[in-house]
Parts: sequence; structure tokens; C-alpha cells
Amino acid sequence: MLKQLVNQCVIDLAIAPDGPILIKSGLPTISGPDMAFVTTWRNGTQEVYLPGSSLKGTFRSHAERIARTLNPVASCNPFVEANQPEASCGLCFDARKKAKEEGLEGPRAYADSCLICRLFGSTWFGGRLATEDAYAVGKPPRPEQRDGVGIDRLTGGAAHGVKFDLEVVTEGTFATRLHLRNFELWQMGLVGFVLADLADGLIRVGAAKSRGLGRVRGQVSRIRVDFLGPNAPRPANGQLKLTGAGSLVAESLAGAYDFVRPDEVDVPSVEEVSNGLRSTYICEGATFPWATLGRLWIEKAGRYEMPIEMARYRGGRPR
Ligand SMILES: [Zn+2]
Repeated sequence: MLKQLVNQCVIDLAIAPDGPILIKSGLPTISGPDMAFVTTWRNGTQEVYLPGSSLKGTFRSHAERIARTLNPVASCNPFVEANQPEASCGLCFDARKKAKEEGLEGPRAYADSCLICRLFGSTWFGGRLATEDAYAVGKPPRPEQRDGVGIDRLTGGAAHGVKFDLEVVTEGTFATRLHLRNFELWQMGLVGFVLADLADGLIRVGAAKSRGLGRVRGQVSRIRVDFLGPNAPRPANGQLKLTGAGSLVAESLAGAYDFVRPDEVDVPSVEEVSNGLRSTYICEGATFPWATLGRLWIEKAGRYEMPIEMARYRGGRPR
């Protein structure tokens, strides 16, 4: 990916259960890697936490749904093989490499990927978004045992009298951070829609979500955006130009990556710290210009077209 860092964004997020969250199950059908919240031993006590990788997976599948609603080809499906419609970008690139195509790494891998892979990454590159593990703030919540009728409902009709080892958490606040690096503004817009749905309780986590478990709510407390390099924006007359990667790198590079250019919106200036190399802007979650960025995402997704080179490995013609 880009060798220089031109912008980055850190989003402080607090996630809280809104009802029971399954953390342990004696059933092989709902356990293992599909469990969103897991327990670990920390400082001599058993502690519940939400691994960043599982949070990222949850956000990704939600973002895929948002993308497909706007444009069916804006997102691949990570679980579909090459030569099928919706084949994952990573597997399409594998097939292109096998067909002796060259120069697929770097800018090409980004430019030919679907919009979701451009943000979340694929087997070909790391993506723009990273999520930290979410740990309990203050005293970790105590796991509770659930049994009886509740269990039968959870497991989808298990026999009466059969005991399962089921544990849930129903309280606590889990703090995490999302990081965006070298992002385009439409990517922040998409993240904003995912966070809005998280705030509204529309995103569920974990394997048992189809059984009515795993409802969480998330609240953004603080957003920090850094701009680096010679093109970094400075506030003027109370306005800041929020700037995406396309406007911060050289034009030829922006072209190679298929970055939106220019990629700028004016927002009311907020607290600013500059040390000459890096300008930092800090915003409260509620006052961040999500609506403005959201429009950029809707526009980007609406006019996205699958590259011919990728369509070839999806058994179809480009839209
Ligand atoms: Zn993709």
C-alpha cells in the first residue's frame, strides 16, 4: 500500500450489550471462532472481551449489506469462489495471477477491488480499517449462567431436561478504537453508516444472533483526524478542509489507486493541534460531519462499476 502516511483517523467507541450476549456454549453448533465475545484470563481473573478481529468481521458483513443495497456489484462475497457471480476479490486476483497477469500488487490490487475490500482489505492487502480489541471499562461484567426454558429457546428446541453449559453477559461497557489510515472520504462515510446502525442497535454480534442473542449498541465518544505532509489542510476562517488521500498524494499516484480526486469537504473547524509536521483535529462523536461524508459514500457506491478484468473471473459481464 501507500508508502507514505497522509491521513489517519482514530474513533473512540464504547460498545455495550443490549440483552444477553453468549460467551460460552456447550453446543458444538454455537461455539468456537463464531463466538463474538470471548473470555480470557487477565490479571488472575476471568475477563470477557470482544476481539478486534471479530468486531471487524461484524462491521464488514454489515457494510457489505449496506453496499449491495446501493449497488449489487459494490461488494464481493468473501466466501464465494472465482468464476461465480460475487466471487471474492482475493480469489479473483489469485486467478488473474495464475493466468500470468503481472503488476497486480500495490495500486492495482486496490484499484480493481470492490469498495468493501478497499476499506476492509482482502488476502491481497491489509485494507484501510483496523479494529482494536474491546475491553471492559472499569470492573469486568460477571458471566451469568442461563438454563431452563431460556436454553431451549436459545438452542432452537433442544430436549427438555438436557443441561447445556451456557454463559452470557448482559452488562458492562467495552471500549475500543477504530483506525483508518490513508483513507478516502467516502470510506469515512461508510464507516459512519455502520456506526449509526450500531448506535441504533441494528447490528448483532456472534454465532447465536439468529436466536435473538448478541444485540449490542455502540456510541462514538471522540474522533481524532491527523493530516500529514505538504498538502495537509489547515483551518481558515473557522473552516477546515477535511481531506481524503486522493487530495493528499501526487496526481499520478491518485490515478494509479483510483482515488477520488479532489477529495475534500469543508467542515466547521474544531480543536486543532499542529507541530509543523502533523495537524490534528479532535471532534466529539455527535458533532462530526457524518451526513456530509455519508453523501460521498452514497455517490461513490452508486456510480461504482466493476472493472472488466474482475468481471471476467465472475462469469459475467461488467455492469
Ligand atoms: Zn471485494
